[in-house]
Amino acid sequence: MKKIGLITSGGDCPGLNACIRAVVRTANYYGIQTVGFIRGFKGLIENDYTILDYKSVAGILQRGGTILLTAREPRFKDYEFRKKAYENIKSLDIDALFVIGGNGSFQGAYLLQKEFGLNVIGIPKTIDNDIFGTQYAIGFDTAVNNAMESIDKIKDTTMSHERIFIVEVMGRDSGFIALEVGMATGAEITLIPEYPLPLHVIEEKILKAKKMEKGFAIIVLAEGVASAKELAEILNERLKDKDVGEIRYQVLGYIQRGGSPTAYDRIMASKFGVFAVEKYMEGEKNFMVAFEDGKILSKPLEISFGKIRVPNIKEYEINNILSL
Ligand code: ATP
Repeated sequence: MKKIGLITSGGDCPGLNACIRAVVRTANYYGIQTVGFIRGFKGLIENDYTILDYKSVAGILQRGGTILLTAREPRFKDYEFRKKAYENIKSLDIDALFVIGGNGSFQGAYLLQKEFGLNVIGIPKTIDNDIFGTQYAIGFDTAVNNAMESIDKIKDTTMSHERIFIVEVMGRDSGFIALEVGMATGAEITLIPEYPLPLHVIEEKILKAKKMEKGFAIIVLAEGVASAKELAEILNERLKDKDVGEIRYQVLGYIQRGGSPTAYDRIMASKFGVFAVEKYMEGEKNFMVAFEDGKILSKPLEISFGKIRVPNIKEYEINNILSL
């Protein structure tokens, strides 16, 4: 019986289980067995695995996190450990490795291909949605919805008390979450690393919100720009004589990353998983699943690293037009 390996690697996100289920069920449909390695590359190095059959992925579609667990594994940057991982894969007679991960995980997988000729297939996931080469990565929609629901609640207090509130969302290097959350919540100001706003412009916008007698403002801040605490301190100091009240802040943190995936994430994760296995069945090798202009397609894995995907300036302008 033909066998494939499967890992989830990098940070967890909602939709990983839906994708695991899709890969396992599609493989099963074509008479292929799936070997799931535990904790990503760590499981490959330590030969820690479980056989995933049709039944073992029952009831997981709606669950956040990953039943295979995930980990950061610094040892994978070392050739000796990659060799160990490859030997484990070969000893199990595995024909191809499916990696549900971000661009870091894809780099690790690519090295297995380059150094040992292993067939590796990447399925993109990351709440940040910044993987180059694909317009969608599993987990993003749920993260945006999680953040939106939290900000809607914060907005009740913000409006009732006529406050200025900074809400920090995830996005270390990219502003995709902030951008969409800003639009979905009607934030007065959205701050993302790709299009930095000078402090005096932020101040002007806050004062404009006050002058228009709106009385309140939500500032959605991507964590890559600054910490909410830091920004609140700076703005409170700079605006202390302007009668805007105390600017408060909230860091949403891991709440964004957990919980049940949205319908969109369940569907995309399922489609990505089925597509990956079917392309593999057709004989395609060393590719990543990508989403482009409404279509799922395959691209060379190496396309995903070395470059950064940036938000469209047009989208950023929409937020500016609609806010203040
Ligand atoms: P996310 O950013 O969404 O958490 P990711 O896959 O980019 O996902 P990383 O932490 O960057 O997450 O990478 C996951 C794992 O991939 C690392 O812990 C490491 O084991 C492996 N990896 C990353 N970069 C490399 C590299 N250059 N060479 C070999 N392995 C790598």
